[in-house]
Amino acid sequence: MNSFEFARATSVAQARELLAEKPGAVLKAGGIDLLDHLKERLVEPPRVVDLKSIPGLARITAEADGGLRIGPMATLAQLAAHPAVQKSHPALAQSCREAASPQIRNVATIGGNVLQRPRCWYYRLESYKCLKKGGDVCYAVGGENRYHAIFGGGPSYAPHPSNAAVALVAFGASFVIEGDKGPRTVAAGDFFTLPTKDPQRENLLQPGEVLTEIRVPSAAGWRSAYDEIQERADFDWPLVSIAAAVKNEGATVRDARVVLGAVAPIPWRSARAEQALSGKALDEAAATAAARAAVVGAAPMSDNGYKVGLVQTLVRRTLLSLA
Ligand SMILES: Cc1cc2nc3c(=O)[nH]c(=O)nc-3n(C[C@H](O)[C@H](O)[C@H](O)COP(=O)(O)OP(=O)(O)OC[C@H]3O[C@@H](n4cnc5c(N)ncnc54)[C@H](O)[C@@H]3O)c2cc1C
Ligand code: SF4
Repeated sequence: MNSFEFARATSVAQARELLAEKPGAVLKAGGIDLLDHLKERLVEPPRVVDLKSIPGLARITAEADGGLRIGPMATLAQLAAHPAVQKSHPALAQSCREAASPQIRNVATIGGNVLQRPRCWYYRLESYKCLKKGGDVCYAVGGENRYHAIFGGGPSYAPHPSNAAVALVAFGASFVIEGDKGPRTVAAGDFFTLPTKDPQRENLLQPGEVLTEIRVPSAAGWRSAYDEIQERADFDWPLVSIAAAVKNEGATVRDARVVLGAVAPIPWRSARAEQALSGKALDEAAATAAARAAVVGAAPMSDNGYKVGLVQTLVRRTLLSLA
């Protein structure tokens, strides 16, 4: 770890000034992923700007219309335990509850969670200068790739790691970002970017910008659930995860969202699975058809073909839990 200056910002404007003053400076929320990067020398910032002292940035507000406004510094534990979030957007509360361990959830923030970098072991080791670090090779191709992407991969195959992002995409959330031209709002479904755009980046956040709010529209009339399959059940990133939501008209599914995690470089919305549900009663046959549809187009690497079966099991199981 390099030595760096530590600065506490008391406003978003001051955080941006503190970043701009020292090129290479980085923001710290809970610091969980940042600390890993510092220890592995994946970043060597001259200054770390802490967001914890900015008033109001951890607020969770349930709006009168059923929507949520979430400050990026709200912790995963706070979101998991929040009664209004549990009631109106259960898949979001569940996604936060399933992440990591209780100790980590008490510190890790939702902003840091959606902005954490991928877990690919080649990326995480200082000695491998892969495409994501400006090199010219992806070591996962022809290397150890059992945790990697089966959809949307290439030229990097590192899967998106955030639980919360999968639920936020399913609910049609948006991110408010403060930058040079003032605040802008980006739909969560557009925010995360494929490596074909730039293998070194995972989203549209520009250097010097601060995520200041997450807005989640009302989910009135929807039923939702988040589930995942892990190698170790106590604390681990998922092998495969899902956020699913359905809106019924009588016994028939009128609208559906099926978003998969840990299988693609972005939260992966399965339009095929959603279409398979539309206009059907949510029963065994419809859930099985959606599960089959969800894996159409999967392109496993040498060691991760098992994820195709896990996706099918998880999609079917989660949809039936909403029946
Ligand atoms: C053992 C272990 C198991 C884990 N398991 C899971 C899991 O199952 N699921 C899961 O989703 N995660 C898991 N995690 C990851 C963990 O949830 C994330 O590292 C954590 O949520 C990051 O949040 P943070 O507040 O600590 O972010 P930080 O480490 O402080 O920040 C992460 C990144 O986001 C940037 N950043 C943070 N806030 C802002 C902001 N407001 N504006 C702009 N940039 C910002 C920082 O500069 C940094 O680059 C696990 C971590 C560990 C160590
Ligand atoms: S999958 Fe991405 S992060 Fe991993 S080695 Fe390949 S380029 Fe690097």
